[in-house]
Amino acid sequence: MSGVPYRVIAIDGPSGSGKSTLAAALAAELGLEHLDTGAMYRAVALAVLRRGLEPDDADAVATLARAMSIEVSPGSVVVNGEDATAAIRTPEVTAIASVVAANPDVRTELVRRQRAWVEDRRGGVVEGRDIASVVFPGAELKLYLTASSETRARRRAEETGSQAEATASEMAARDARDTTRAASPLVRADGSHEIDTTDVPVGQLVKEVLKMLDTPDQGRHEFTRLEHRVGAKVEYKPPTRGSLLFFAVCRAIAATICRLFCRVTVEGRENLPASGPYVFAPVHRSYVDWIVLACISRRRVRFMAKDTLWSSRFVGWLLEALGTFPVHRGSADRAAFSLCVKILAEGEPCVLFPEGQRRSGPVVEDLLGGAAYVAARARVPIVPVGIGGSERVMQKGKALPRPYKVHIVVGRPIYPLATESGSRVPMRVVKEITAQLQGDIQELFDRAQRRAGAA
Ligand code: C5P
Repeated sequence: MSGVPYRVIAIDGPSGSGKSTLAAALAAELGLEHLDTGAMYRAVALAVLRRGLEPDDADAVATLARAMSIEVSPGSVVVNGEDATAAIRTPEVTAIASVVAANPDVRTELVRRQRAWVEDRRGGVVEGRDIASVVFPGAELKLYLTASSETRARRRAEETGSQAEATASEMAARDARDTTRAASPLVRADGSHEIDTTDVPVGQLVKEVLKMLDTPDQGRHEFTRLEHRVGAKVEYKPPTRGSLLFFAVCRAIAATICRLFCRVTVEGRENLPASGPYVFAPVHRSYVDWIVLACISRRRVRFMAKDTLWSSRFVGWLLEALGTFPVHRGSADRAAFSLCVKILAEGEPCVLFPEGQRRSGPVVEDLLGGAAYVAARARVPIVPVGIGGSERVMQKGKALPRPYKVHIVVGRPIYPLATESGSRVPMRVVKEITAQLQGDIQELFDRAQRRAGAA
């Protein structure tokens, strides 16, 4: 059950610390979009001014924030259908943006919209004041930028065309409001990397941050906490004779039961690479999908499974004995993906359900990028798989399986092209492979459903 990867990079810091410049450059490098959350608070401030409301009339401002439309995209901000790109940068708006931002109900509304923005795009580079602490505490990379107050005032004055001294005093007042307010004050979040950008040219800053992203243990703090919670280990264990034997016995039992109970048939076995690593990417309609895969090949495959399964000691032990490894769903679990890449590099096949979780019905909806990412990163093929009939065998909400037929179709492998930039996988590549995978899985699933008599 693959989780990921919403690739979220969280950048916080006071104004003039270089967030927007870094966020835009990183987004371009990573093929992501960039969200300036400050522009959203400014948009609310602009609407407050236009309506003639008192900025500290908490209820009226919160009601307004909930009702208004705000569309933020790189280089443009549209508020209630009107282009407000320039209007939100005026000194009047700047003066009350941090007053409006201290309103907890406004924050709740905007945080909801920020999360939805990222969800829609399946990732993004998000900058603001509370991104790492509140909005995306599980972000893949969290940065906290600072710079000397002179540098920050100079940068802001250059942007707005005003005097550096006036800007410095306005910024000091805003900093004070942002850092002392009760609701989500500007703080350096747990696990954020602090970077002083005072004397660092942008190009160098971007390079350093990209290097951080390429370090496999980046973001490990999140997973350490998680491991502690559920007892799941995210570490590479090479196969031993005992573990291979245990898998072989369990697989043979599972395959026999599946053949007898669901009359499992398999088509396209010849598409499986005869040796070496690959990523198995099956459609996921039922819990039995895990088990029927045992009918495809005798080789040990390593499953990625949701970490909450480890909360039962026995299940955790069994999963680990079978070579399964945990992923934390709902965030970009970098440790799990690094482990998957390592397993592939050691020559073992992995199974990732690219739909992310059990789905229902005939349509293969948008896939997560995890399978494509690890395959491109490890430079191994992805094998799409359609499993037909399994949803009828184990229906959602039912405790017992029913003996319906299951048919499996193994598709032709997709070979990710070697990426240009070394070990980093551009988001563009992940998106391309994922789109192809989605089409292939849909075709295989349709065929498997027909052959199982379930279409
Ligand atoms: O980043 P920018 O200076 O445009 O943000 C304007 C104001 O919006 C900030 O002074 C701050 O009060 C508020 N803000 C916030 N939380 C964010 C982003 C901005 O409180 N995530």
